[in-house]
Formats: sequence, C-alpha cells, structure tokens
Amino acid sequence: MDDIDLEELVASLTLREENQAIKSYQNTVAVSCPACDARFDDLIVCKENPTSLNLSRQLDLCVGSADGQAVIFTHKK
Ligand SMILES: [Zn+2]
Repeated sequence: MDDIDLEELVASLTLREENQAIKSYQNTVAVSCPACDARFDDLIVCKENPTSLNLSRQLDLCVGSADGQAVIFTHKK
C-alpha cells in the first residue's frame, strides 16, 4: 500500500488548528480525497497515538496513513 504524500497534500490546504493531539487543515481548493475521490472538507493529522476526535457534527470519514501518522479526511453529509 502506498502512503499518502502528506507534504504534497497539505501544501494545497489551509492550516486551521493545531494542538497537542491533532493538526487540522481546511480544503479550500477542492482537493479530492485519496480514498474515495470525492472532495473532502477537512484533513486531520493525528499526532498522538492513540488520539480521540471530538466531532461536533456527523461526518463521513475516510482514513489513511502517512509517515506513520493516521490521517482522516472528513466529508460533510
Ligand atoms: Zn473520502
């Protein structure tokens, strides 16, 4: 399985939030999700292992890994 090219991916995205556990980027330029090819809304990089996400709304998620970190692509319903 190929890793996701995180550096290339985040270069197109806008960093919104960073804390101890996660980094989250907003997809402002309609990059397509590597998992499902649909446009995703946010990319979340998990810096801690394990990490809990406190989602404030119901989302469809696609998950991958890059450089040993879990990355999550969110899709609003
Ligand atoms: Zn997806």
